[in-house]
Amino acid sequence: MTEFATPELDVVIPDDLAKPLDRLRDAASELGISLYLVGGPVRDWLLQRPLVDIDLLIANGNPKSIATLVRKGFGKDAKVREHPQFGTMSVEIGEHRVDLATLRKEKYPRPGALPVVSPGTLEDDLSRRDFSVNALALPLRKGGGEEPISVIDLGSGLVDLGESTLRVFHPRSFHDDPTRALRAARLAARLGFGLSRGARSALRDALRDGAFGGVSGDRLRREFIKLFTDCAVGGHPSIALVHLDKWHVLAALEPGLCTHASSRAPLRRLEKVLATPQWRVREHRPWVAGLCLWLSPLSAPLRRRTLARLGVRGDTSVRVLDFAKSCQRWIKELKGTRGRGAVDLVLAELDEDQLLALYATCEPLLRRRVVRWAAEDRDTRIPVSPRDLLNANLSGPVVGVALARIRAAYLNGEVANREEGLALAREILRRSEAGKRGRRPKDAGRN
Ligand code: ATP
Ligand code: MG
Repeated sequence: MTEFATPELDVVIPDDLAKPLDRLRDAASELGISLYLVGGPVRDWLLQRPLVDIDLLIANGNPKSIATLVRKGFGKDAKVREHPQFGTMSVEIGEHRVDLATLRKEKYPRPGALPVVSPGTLEDDLSRRDFSVNALALPLRKGGGEEPISVIDLGSGLVDLGESTLRVFHPRSFHDDPTRALRAARLAARLGFGLSRGARSALRDALRDGAFGGVSGDRLRREFIKLFTDCAVGGHPSIALVHLDKWHVLAALEPGLCTHASSRAPLRRLEKVLATPQWRVREHRPWVAGLCLWLSPLSAPLRRRTLARLGVRGDTSVRVLDFAKSCQRWIKELKGTRGRGAVDLVLAELDEDQLLALYATCEPLLRRRVVRWAAEDRDTRIPVSPRDLLNANLSGPVVGVALARIRAAYLNGEVANREEGLALAREILRRSEAGKRGRRPKDAGRN
């Protein structure tokens, strides 16, 4: 194990995480617990990238002292979720997550299966990891002592970090856990890294031996969720999918699966709009919007088979499957719209995932319409309420018709206030009654 002395330990930690980490470090020193920052945050700190989530390793201590450590670090009221079968706990702090784990080693009963976990040493724990750059640990203890605080590196992590390389620890790494290929693609795209020669050969061997066939749909889906959610931390699913295609991983998941060139630009637009939103984006699932864009150029049977392979079911699967067709319809309707009210009628039926995917698909003029609607019009409240309409003697289906017409007219600027809205409602009522009177003789004739 090599150590790398760090003269400056000013880790840039998000404000809301800084205090709990300080308290954890002080409590660990008091309790004689060795605590390490490990994996992603060490890597990102050395690359001078912002830290998002924090992974910590607890190297010693008994259940009582660990419980005291957690209480002192996060306070009595923190919501700590424990996963005793994996020896891990997690705490949500605002938008961030702190994961704590005790030292463990892992054994894979068969390729692609979940590992069997048992207690281990720091070396075991670091060498069970996916890539050398994710196997770096930084002791968290109070500075000022005799010993310098250094990064612990099992082998080549620091060199690989300098060379932008993802290196695996042994040739059967992807046999053990083929989802590491998806992690590799995500990290390579996010950090601009490449696979080492050994990692490429290990991946080829795992593909040749059919290791990907043993991975469950649930595990694959979880990795794809992370791949698309990476947009929020500067990741690039559009590039990650190209890596997976070039590495022949997609075809190993489902024969024929690929990344069509025409999905690149929409996926890039999705990355951009999620990283710097143009409207207050409502609750959404980046992976659903991402799947819509990625899969829509592929044939319907291939889309269906891919969704089944990823264990995407129910309503979500229907939305992704139908996106290609629905999107064409929305674009056609949007092109034909005159006025903001008509745009509202088209877009109000979309959920946020569909809206994001539509935005990412369409041409600049329509994108501007989508942004204007989402940023300004969709939250607009019209000056007339359903009660106002009932008071004006409207009843039954005509109330809904009138509300929609008043909303469209209000967004178009043809109705400016409540009085004008009610005048339009009375006009709609008058026409509806005239229409009914006009039909009456015919209706009567039928009896
Ligand atoms: P991110 O910035 O996306 O959080 P991360 O590297 O921290 O990246 P996590 O998913 O948070 O990734 O996992 C934490 C650590 O656990 C990783 O750095 C890696 O060391 C290890 N790890 C996660 N998944 C695997 C895996 N499938 N195989 C081996 N090690 C893994
Ligand atoms: Mg992490």
